[in-house]
Amino acid sequence: MSIAIMTLVAGLSAAPASQAAYTFIEGQLPANRQPDGNSIIIEGAQELLVIDTGRHPEHTDKIIAMATARNKPITAIVNTHWHLDHATGNARIRAAYPDAKLYASTAVEGALKGFLIRGVDEAKASLNDPAVPEARKTDTRLYLNAINDPANLVPDHPVNGPMTIKLGGRELQLRLARHAATAGDVWVYDPADKAVFVGDLVVVPLPFFDTGCAEGWRQALAEIDQLDFQTLVPGHGLPMDHGSFSSYRRAFEAFTTCADGNQPTASCVAIWQQQGASFVAAHADQKYVQAALTYYVDRIMRSPARRSEYCGK
Ligand SMILES: [Zn+2]
Repeated sequence: MSIAIMTLVAGLSAAPASQAAYTFIEGQLPANRQPDGNSIIIEGAQELLVIDTGRHPEHTDKIIAMATARNKPITAIVNTHWHLDHATGNARIRAAYPDAKLYASTAVEGALKGFLIRGVDEAKASLNDPAVPEARKTDTRLYLNAINDPANLVPDHPVNGPMTIKLGGRELQLRLARHAATAGDVWVYDPADKAVFVGDLVVVPLPFFDTGCAEGWRQALAEIDQLDFQTLVPGHGLPMDHGSFSSYRRAFEAFTTCADGNQPTASCVAIWQQQGASFVAAHADQKYVQAALTYYVDRIMRSPARRSEYCGK
């Protein structure tokens, strides 16, 4: 995607144009590297709030460049969840803006003792393996640096339930979904702009189930569907309108209900490919989509160990 930054203009009647300002920075999903999640910059009169900070310095630097151009400090970061494609950039932003508060779920504390620590030995070994491509090693170093710097992952402003952040005259509503895409997913609703920023609760081309629990995730999507919004920004992929989100939610319900039952994996994969066809079409590599869905059904959604870990029971 050549245009990495685009400004979304919110509903004309909601607010004067000068206030309807948030900027979408698309995360990249390259074939040979780890992805970056999408970022959002919300602009107050004198300060900026950032939702998710990316993984690679190239992504995070787009956020910092915008703050520099606007001549406003970044005073707050919201992490929608602890996955490192959304949170690695925290440290880089705070190196430039040390006073930036960090709002996130405390689920990251569990991840630092579990999911995130599991890969360390293998990661360290890969750095000495001449067969591993340099781009992969760069990603590995970013991972190791991030987990060795927990102060920039663990929130100083934990989101344990509904809360509000004031940004000038604007009120952002934060909500916590438990045991959805992760053990704690934060999403942000901006009622003035009728916009909602949901992190990896919505991912195009397919839901990333690496640490997901279908039951809690369905509940979160149902709650979001009740909101009055016009634009939803997913964790990966382009912003969508409410109607597209509702169709995403229906496809998600059908796919996960299939995985909860005992139909063959291929049937569940086919359900997402059909009902989520408009989202699947956004990805060039259909083999990747099929392989990822198959992996998630077999190894996560139908694994009793993973279900009990990610659903917290
Ligand atoms: Zn992500």
